[in-house]
Amino acid sequence: MGRFSILSIDDLSCEDIQNIIDISFSMDEVLGRDIKKIPTLRGKVVALMFFEPSTRTRISFELASKFVSADTVNFSTAGSSIEKGESLIDTIRTISSLGVDFLVIRHNKEGVPHIVAEHSDISVINAGDGKNEHPTQALLDLFTMMKRKKLKSISDMKNLSVSIVGDILHSRVARSNIKLLRKLGVKINVVSAYTTLPQGIDKVFDIKVKNFIDEEVLESDFIMALRLQKERHAAVFYPSDREFNFFWGLKEEQILKLKDRVIMHPGPMNLGVEIMPAVAYSELSAISEQVRNGVAVRMAILFYIFRGGKIGID
Ligand code: ASP
Repeated sequence: MGRFSILSIDDLSCEDIQNIIDISFSMDEVLGRDIKKIPTLRGKVVALMFFEPSTRTRISFELASKFVSADTVNFSTAGSSIEKGESLIDTIRTISSLGVDFLVIRHNKEGVPHIVAEHSDISVINAGDGKNEHPTQALLDLFTMMKRKKLKSISDMKNLSVSIVGDILHSRVARSNIKLLRKLGVKINVVSAYTTLPQGIDKVFDIKVKNFIDEEVLESDFIMALRLQKERHAAVFYPSDREFNFFWGLKEEQILKLKDRVIMHPGPMNLGVEIMPAVAYSELSAISEQVRNGVAVRMAILFYIFRGGKIGID
């Protein structure tokens, strides 16, 4: 198996992105079948190493692995030799020697998946590293957008606009989405208080920065709310959840009157803070589609890496 890791959106060319999207459409079709399984990764092993809490990403990687016929092994720090003082690098070496083919890793420290990839010959997939990146979330968000707009080619994304609202500074989802969508020429607004806006983000990515939800934001094709990443707040960035909701929360009176707009959120949601329940569960919301699409896209990613970057499903 060729060693190919996905640590950042920077690792992917537009051709890779189009290929992963094409395979995701095929995997989505597999998920609609009675027997949701293809044999491609039979005999391969995927290790799921989550050093941070996760529901969607972990379960969808596990299901995705099973649906492409790979075996999975779950690793958690509690009960592992890390508790006995073994270093992460030694743990990774041990896991490689045990015959694992893919390592899906989430860690609260930025750059850990990169270090792991350097110290092993396994394909590593970054499932979220601190506030740095979450590339598979960005790919599933792109797939969700393309399905909603009935697009097959990523080149058609350049006609669309996306507004990302909330705690941009601490969000790996925002960083990976901005990188991916800008690669495709999508127009982006980020909306946040100054306290949670990375300095210079407008110039680095050529995007518009706004402090409040205005008409232009409400006219975007997609409006993505982000969770307040309190576990990464080393200081007070907002006076209170109530104040955050007042200025940056997606509320029914603004949103429910919109036509042809799509509301997204990577989950988990803090209902009543960054998004009101009536918005999250409205017809405009693609939030449960994002969860479902996560399985198809992660099947596609495993398949694509396994094939060493080639497409074509048996
Ligand atoms: N689930 C996403 C992540 O792991 C978003 C979040 O936690 O707010 O980054």
